[in-house]
Amino acid sequence: MPKLRITEIFYSLQGESASVGWPTVFVRLTGCPLRCGYCDTTYAFKGGEWREFDEILDQVASYGARHVTVTGGEPLAQADCPALLSALCDAGYEVSLETSGALDISGVDPRVSRVMDLKTPSSGELERNLYSNIDHLTVHDQVKFVIADEADYEWSKAQVEQWPLTGRCDVLFSPVAGTLPPTQLADWILRDRLAVRFQLQLHKLLWGNEPGR
Ligand code: SF4
Repeated sequence: MPKLRITEIFYSLQGESASVGWPTVFVRLTGCPLRCGYCDTTYAFKGGEWREFDEILDQVASYGARHVTVTGGEPLAQADCPALLSALCDAGYEVSLETSGALDISGVDPRVSRVMDLKTPSSGELERNLYSNIDHLTVHDQVKFVIADEADYEWSKAQVEQWPLTGRCDVLFSPVAGTLPPTQLADWILRDRLAVRFQLQLHKLLWGNEPGR
């Protein structure tokens, strides 16, 4: 029976991405090979508990939700993560995966909506971006830029143009909470007529930084 190291499984509202606002079960896998400067889930770097798939699926089912998000940490750092994603799809859920963009997404079940970061300069992890992932993005996926300042914004704008991302999938621009005023980012997007989707993290507006929310 495959196992995964799990930090927490909890029920909340999806705070970002295309499924924002839906009641969602979050399965947070332990561990991440990156160390982004703005990381808000450092508690998931270590610890956690090994849990078998059956046990994970039973807890997910107990909430009666239609949406499930597998997140981290970096979920793809655990080899059995793609198998869990497929098992969740087989069980009939709308499944999304939140991933850093540093690991290969090509083995992820195409039924899963992949929400993939491209790390901005201020993250300190720019060199970890695996740009070959972009070729695997479809209209079912989203690419996300977490933006701390004007340099991040200009870099993100250049990436959107270079690949070009808006023709492949939804592009999300999100301000780093407490660092970049959201209105500033909104004004830049409108000024430059970008076809990207502005995001605020709904769960932070509702509950702050409380883990398990
Ligand atoms: S990839 Fe995500 S979990 Fe890992 S350090 Fe960066 S923000 Fe934190």
